[in-house]
Amino acid sequence: MRFHNSRSIPSGFTIKACTVRKRQNDWYVSVRIEDKSVPEYSPKALGNNPKVIGCDLGLTKLVHLSDGYQIENPRFSTNKKAKRTLKIRQRRVSRKTKGSKNRKKAAIKVSRFHQKIGDKRQAYQWKTANKIVSRSIDAIALEDLNISGMMRRCKVKSDEKTGRFLKNGQSRKKGLNRAISDAGWGDLGLKIEYLAAKQGKIVIKVNPKHSSQECRNCGHIDQENRDEEKFICVECGYHEHADIGAAKTIRDRALRMVRGPGRETWC
Ligand SMILES: [Zn+2]
Repeated sequence: MRFHNSRSIPSGFTIKACTVRKRQNDWYVSVRIEDKSVPEYSPKALGNNPKVIGCDLGLTKLVHLSDGYQIENPRFSTNKKAKRTLKIRQRRVSRKTKGSKNRKKAAIKVSRFHQKIGDKRQAYQWKTANKIVSRSIDAIALEDLNISGMMRRCKVKSDEKTGRFLKNGQSRKKGLNRAISDAGWGDLGLKIEYLAAKQGKIVIKVNPKHSSQECRNCGHIDQENRDEEKFICVECGYHEHADIGAAKTIRDRALRMVRGPGRETWC
């Protein structure tokens, strides 16, 4: 079988496994290779004063870092243009006779568009993960997110007397769920872990509970503390950018896990 040799196998490696996959537009081969003389990646031990960076994952911005750096969220499948294109292409499918060749052709165009979005998202996630991991740091603090729990559907509400279904807010939540899956936090986290391991850095998962509601000055936790992008403590008046503050809280929680409560470092 002929194939496009996009990346040749480096010398010294032996082929261990080969996977052939069919995607919407073509066939793909991935090859697993091994070279026993290459040492395994080993994480460096964290010293007394590790440099840790905190990451807060979001939707308006994809990542906020504790050093104040922000990474945009391109919303590959939920931005206005993509939604419009998808709608038009899906309509083209539904207007064609069921079982016809033209319907099939139109359906292929939809799936190709989905694939293209997926490819773009993957590429962007690698770029983002690289930006975070390649900073001069020893460890990366990430939120331990329960994404499937966040995306769970709302409970069904029904009228006790008539048994009719009432509005439960699911249609509003659907949009949020789509935005969450479009952001791809879980996949991004995996890529960060992969690149970190490769560079001998450590990923620390922390409990994200109240990370964006807790005051960094007095520790007061209140939903009222947060007003969209701004964080203003209702107890002590401390204020800062809400998401960067959350990233700092995540970093500090990781530091506390590493060396117990007490001293804090900034980076
Ligand atoms: Zn406060």
